[in-house]
Amino acid sequence: MRFSSCYIPTLKESPAEAEVASHRLLLRAGMIRRLTAGVYVYLPLGLRMMDKISKIVREEMNAAGFQELLMPVVQPADLWKESGRWEQYGKELLRFKDRNDRECCLGPTHEEVITDMVRGEVRSYRQLPVRLYQIQTKFRDEIRPRFGLMRGREFIMKDAYSFDMDVPGAEQSYKSMYDAYARIFQRLGVGFRAVEADNGSIGGSFSHEFMVLADTGEDTVIFCRNCDYAANVERARICWTGEKAGRPCPPCRDISTPGAHTVADVAGLLGVAPAKIVKTLVLLADGRPVAALVRGDRELNETKLKNLLNARDIKLAAPAAVESLTRAPLGFAGPRGLDLPVYADLELQGDTDYVTGGNAADTHTMHVDLSRDARVAVFADLRNIAPDDRCPVCGGEVSLRRGIEVGHVFMLGLKYSESMHAAFLDEKGRERPMIMGCYGIGISRVAAAAIEQNHDADGIVFPPSLAPFEAALLCLDPDNAGARAAAEKIYALLPRLGVDVLYDDRRERPGVKFKDADLLGMPMQLVIGAKSLARGVAECKDRRSGEKGELDLDNFESAFGRWARRVRDGWNEGAQGS
Ligand code: ATP
Ligand code: MG
Repeated sequence: MRFSSCYIPTLKESPAEAEVASHRLLLRAGMIRRLTAGVYVYLPLGLRMMDKISKIVREEMNAAGFQELLMPVVQPADLWKESGRWEQYGKELLRFKDRNDRECCLGPTHEEVITDMVRGEVRSYRQLPVRLYQIQTKFRDEIRPRFGLMRGREFIMKDAYSFDMDVPGAEQSYKSMYDAYARIFQRLGVGFRAVEADNGSIGGSFSHEFMVLADTGEDTVIFCRNCDYAANVERARICWTGEKAGRPCPPCRDISTPGAHTVADVAGLLGVAPAKIVKTLVLLADGRPVAALVRGDRELNETKLKNLLNARDIKLAAPAAVESLTRAPLGFAGPRGLDLPVYADLELQGDTDYVTGGNAADTHTMHVDLSRDARVAVFADLRNIAPDDRCPVCGGEVSLRRGIEVGHVFMLGLKYSESMHAAFLDEKGRERPMIMGCYGIGISRVAAAAIEQNHDADGIVFPPSLAPFEAALLCLDPDNAGARAAAEKIYALLPRLGVDVLYDDRRERPGVKFKDADLLGMPMQLVIGAKSLARGVAECKDRRSGEKGELDLDNFESAFGRWARRVRDGWNEGAQGS
């Protein structure tokens, strides 16, 4: 493609709206434009990148025995009512009525639609398994759309669904997707890890997330330094040793702590370690108030509490509600005498003599022994894992990293087949529910994640597999007939060598072309100008390593072939997986 005839509206300045590198660079490189919050136009270069990702995804999905179909964006509410998710899904589901007053939604995911289709068609075990996928636009009315393609409201997802007759078959489907995902992310050249995950609102038996490791990730992932265990912190189990300090605890005593709302305030005022303070959080579980206790230096894991209570929804109570339930302003709640079900983190059993809120303004209570002084309904694993915790599998040391969730494989089990009656007749003529799995990859999020991992001060550093073009060809002196002819010759040759190329034939200064080539991030740069022509060479630069060289124009094809292999090999060696 000739740059002069391409629509590539690059930007010199960093757009103020962009907080992370991928967002900033996708805008600056003229690949995307924002239409409204979380909704983007894919410009020609952006679309080429998305097509390259989709191509790899399609190849691996097809190889795993899944067939492509395309389902609608608009879905009838009736199906969602059948599955129970019309009530469960919350505000991320964009609902509307059509002209006939029928309730509809924009699909955030397609379990209902595909289950409805398959149950209408599949009757016998002989027709199973059914394994299907699509690459399609999703809409989720995210509360905080941000970071460009990373968390959009409208985005492109590959979603796949499997229907099997028995558990071994379903496990086989799950494994084939897990393996296909590993190949996809390897081929895309992104460093990733597969981690154990929570099942979230989709529910089901077990799941893994595929995480691209990057500091800008919204998720936190823990790894064992000793064994293979890796999990999302939402999910990571905590092994509490059960060891109790066995310290005697003096009688409780209230103490005045004016203005000390936070753990840090209380620790400073009373001179106690945050680990000796108990945080009391008041939450609403499906609207019902409960209290959760964790150590002052720990974070409550709302997902664990939600799962413990079997709640659909959990959120922190508003300050006014906390005040009326605890009779104290925010920051002074405590478990003593609290008239709410109290759930405490396991670890709190390890010690006594804690400081807690006093359930009165500007008051805390010292010397609290939770088993003596509070009515705790259950001690359970309720907090996020921390760097000083041990691996729940082998007891080894753990480390925490930020990650971007790019893919998710779920074993759904019977969740939809039971509620929506997707059944088949087995070989003995008995009716049985199908066993389902669902598998998503955020195609647009992968693009953002790849750029988060691969960029530098000058711009994007595209892995070859998803670069809109693999090579940039810069003609520095388009008015010099010789230079122009040499560049045209290379431009004609490269596609025959299997390399797609963006040919910068514009009448721009060399500096502009170099800057744009670095910004757009094509892995291979080739430069032809009057000076290099006089030496009989084209200059080349590996965008990633910055390494420069010269390719002999007389033997260009073989010289280029060798160099291109080196550039690609560099990427293959760099790609990491789990
Ligand atoms: P998250 O926790 O980040 O909201 P999710 O658990 O809701 O993700 P899934 O329902 O598993 O995501 O969707 C499958 C994949 O779709 C995710 O792994 C992710 O790559 C992508 N995805 C989900 N939400 C978005 C979004 N708002 N913007 C872009 N991609 C998304
Ligand atoms: Mg989500």
